[in-house]
Formats: sequence, C-alpha cells, structure tokens
Amino acid sequence: MKKFIIIILAVFLLLVGVVIAWSTITFHSFSFDDAAIAQDEKTLGYYLDTYDRSRDAFRKATDDIKKKFANAKSLTLAVPSNISEGLTVDVLYIPQHKKQKRLLVLSSGVHGVEGFVGSAIQRMFIDDFITVDLLNSMGVLIIHGMNPYGFKHYRRVTENNIDLNRNCDTDVALYATKNEGYPRVYQLINPAEPVDLSSFGNRFFHLKAINQILRASMRTLRQAILQGQYEYPEGLYFGGKQAEAQVKLVSKELGPILRQYPVVLNIDLHTGYGERGVLHLFPNPIEDRNIKEKVENVFKGYSIEWGDTGSFYTTTGDFSTFLGKLMPEGTYLPMTFEYGTMNSHTTLGAIKSLHVTILENQGHHFGYASKSDEVRVKANFLEMYYPTSPAWRMKVMEDTRKLLKSSLDNFKNM
Ligand SMILES: [Zn+2]
Repeated sequence: MKKFIIIILAVFLLLVGVVIAWSTITFHSFSFDDAAIAQDEKTLGYYLDTYDRSRDAFRKATDDIKKKFANAKSLTLAVPSNISEGLTVDVLYIPQHKKQKRLLVLSSGVHGVEGFVGSAIQRMFIDDFITVDLLNSMGVLIIHGMNPYGFKHYRRVTENNIDLNRNCDTDVALYATKNEGYPRVYQLINPAEPVDLSSFGNRFFHLKAINQILRASMRTLRQAILQGQYEYPEGLYFGGKQAEAQVKLVSKELGPILRQYPVVLNIDLHTGYGERGVLHLFPNPIEDRNIKEKVENVFKGYSIEWGDTGSFYTTTGDFSTFLGKLMPEGTYLPMTFEYGTMNSHTTLGAIKSLHVTILENQGHHFGYASKSDEVRVKANFLEMYYPTSPAWRMKVMEDTRKLLKSSLDNFKNM
C-alpha cells in the first residue's frame, strides 16, 4: 500500500514537472502587460539602460536643483573596486528650510541591478516633488546607486558577491549570525558546475524545488533562502564578513545629517519580489509599537506587508534598518518599496525567480556551457529586476507618484 502511494506520488510529481518544465526559465507573457495603460514619453524616458547613463542623468538633475536651491549640496562617495574605475554612490541633500524637523531619505540601488528603476523613480521625484512647499516641511536626502558595481555590471550583489541588503549594521555581531536553515538548501541553490540550461537538473528544476517544498514548507524554505547567510561567500544571499566600503561611508558621511533631524523617513527602492506590476510596501518587521503605528499613519490607506506575515520574509542586515541605527536618539521610520515583477508571491513564480537567481550566481562563479546559455541567463536576470514592458514601467511610476503624494502629506503632519 505504502509503495503504491509512493509510486502515485512520483508519477504525479513527474507530470507536474513535465507540465511546467516547458516554462522553465523563459518568461510567461503576463496578462497584466497587455492592459491598456496610457504611455507617455516623459515617464518612459526616466528609464535608462546603463549605470553610466542613469548616474549622468541623476547628476544633471542634481546640478539643476543646486541652481534652484542655494542650500542644496551634492556628495560623491567613491566605492573602491578591482574591476571598474570611478564607481560612486551619488548623494543629493537639500536641508529643510528654516528649521530642521523632518527628513526624507530616498535610496536606490542597494541591489545593484534594481538601480535602474530606483534611479528612474528618484529623478521623477526630483522633477515632480521637490518644491519650496515640500522643503518648508522636510529636508530631502537622495542616495543614488548604493551598489554601483552591481548597477554597472547588472548584478544584484557587490563585487565581493555580497548582498548589500544583508550586510548593513553598526554592530559586527551581524556577521556571526547563523542561518540554521541554509545548509539544508545549500545544494539546491548553489550548484558547483558551469551552467548548462539543457541539463536534466535545469529542465526539471521545478521538480527538485517541489520535492524540497514537500519536505519543508514553502514558508520555511523561503525564509531559509532569503533571510541572508554569513558562511558561504560564493552562495546566494551572502551578507559578508564585514561591512562593505559604501556602508562605512554612509555611516561616516550621512550619519551626521540624519542626526540633525528628530524625525526621519526612509524609503528604500527595490524590484523583483511580489506580484507583477504591484508596488508592495514591504518593510522588515518593527518591534516598537509606537514606531510601527507612525509608519502605518504615513502610509494610511495602503496595506503594509510586514516581513513576518503572508508570503514575505524577514532579513538580517538590511539597509533601511541600518540607517535608523545611525540616529539612536530620534524617531526613525523605515520603509521599503518593492515593485513586483514575476509573481513570486505564488509558488510557481517563487520557484522561477529562484531559478533565475541561482543560474546568474552559478554562471558568475563557474561559467557557462555555451555562449547562448550565458546570454539567456543574463537577459532573464535583467528582465526580472528591470522589466522591459512599457506597461509595467508606466504603472509603477504612476502608482509611486500617487503613493508619495499621499504619504508625504501625512509625513508633513508628524
Ligand atoms: Zn532588492
């Protein structure tokens, strides 16, 4: 009887695998993208296709703001690299007029490849939101391209394979954090051989993943993989053994600015996780009830997906929480905007996202069986974090405009 059940289960899994293997790696067309969303050249024009072009445009916008507001300052933080010259984190700071009560920090590119969308949003913000009226009620600090190496080379991680959003803390104890669940998923997510898209393991990646899901739960698996790990430098979601150079620079150069304000709101811009075309409010959980309520008040009318609920997850060493540690005295309100691209809140979407992420990391470390595999893996990876769909690009920009308008009005009254 037991044997029979096992056979039935095996056949079922095989069928599931066959049915979905065809869709492995390649992207579905999402019905969302066929929606009739009005497109305008100005909005789509914010989306640029290289790090250099994005940064140039940000610097140009910064120069224009400096001509308009005499107290605006720009700052360039040089990030050392063995591969690329001239990598920088670029900063625009405009103090609040008259008194310094509130500060908005808008940051992008903590995950390098997500910087394209982040940069576009930041430049839209500069054009549409920075007015005398806004500056009368808050200062603005814009951090462009926290991970310029990843931005330039279309990777999520830094040059040291570090996930910067698992690397940030003022306390070095972070780097001794044990992720108990990670060793169990290590082999699934870190294959140590060149990428071969025609291999059995890649064609039937879904089967391997479903097998793991059957043994643990989806939630356990997601948490183990995504929370961050500090033991395997070549593995996915490696948080490092020490703070990356730009993390130290932010602490030194921007910490003093944050500490001038009693109330600071951070919005850290990310892409890739969640329902396609949806702007998710996805902060790490906040234990302080009072702070949590304030965050909820700023984003009143919108649902917040705290990392410890639903299909989301918590992380260690994230950038947004870290900024708050730079100002122990004041009120700090962290928020992450996550623009969904691949429906990773569903099981199939999550498996697909994971596969794309694994292949890119594997290819980086072990190379590719063929040039065409390399091209395909890199294109899928970029598409996951920077969708080419004009409908997607229009929608996230419009939704962000709307959300910022209401939330900054609420923030003004805090
Ligand atoms: Zn991200």
